Amino acid sequence: MRLFFALWPDTQTQHAWHDGLAPYLAPLGGRRMPSANLHLTLAFLGDVRGDRMSELLRLGDDLATDALSLRFDHLEYWKKPGLVCLRTADTPPPLARLAGQLGTGLDMAGFAVERRQFKPHVTLARDVPVGMASLPVWPVVEWQVPAVALVRSRLAAGGSEYAVLHEWRLG
Ligand code: ATP
Ligand code: MG
Repeated sequence: MRLFFALWPDTQTQHAWHDGLAPYLAPLGGRRMPSANLHLTLAFLGDVRGDRMSELLRLGDDLATDALSLRFDHLEYWKKPGLVCLRTADTPPPLARLAGQLGTGLDMAGFAVERRQFKPHVTLARDVPVGMASLPVWPVVEWQVPAVALVRSRLAAGGSEYAVLHEWRLG
């Protein structure tokens, strides 16, 4: 199964982002991500054998669960994947620590992990046809992160469908 670790918003937050950011996204075209899909990926695992689930759950159990709050202040267009995402001005140290701890744990357990620098983002739209400069979001979007989640992704006719398999509450 296709798995990833993510910071996972509660349903109300997903709706607030989806509806609140709609005016920025409407003029850009592309394919809006449904509210239920909004999340911030920490580590993408790809295809994982079912019998490795217990290792991933243990890894999650070992993560630091300090409170984490993020402040998204702009939208970015990423040309190569053709997406528009919600971005923080910087990566706050507790987030860098969490992503680093997860990456190291996965690495040590023999999971293939992303080598690229971690760029926290929430994908809002894909297949966006025309590029744009980075766009400030006002008012900024403050988020008290409720949980880290292990999520399964399944390709469906209308796009990817996610199912949260396990959550670790923060704070
Ligand atoms: P779709 O691929 O159908 O457009 P998706 O990218 O949201 O949808 P997945 O490909 O299953 O669905 O990805 C799940 C999450 O992991 C998404 O946040 C995606 O951006 C991220 N992701 C996917 N592939 C990678 C990768 N190679 N490196 C880092 N993150 C990835
Ligand atoms: Mg994908």
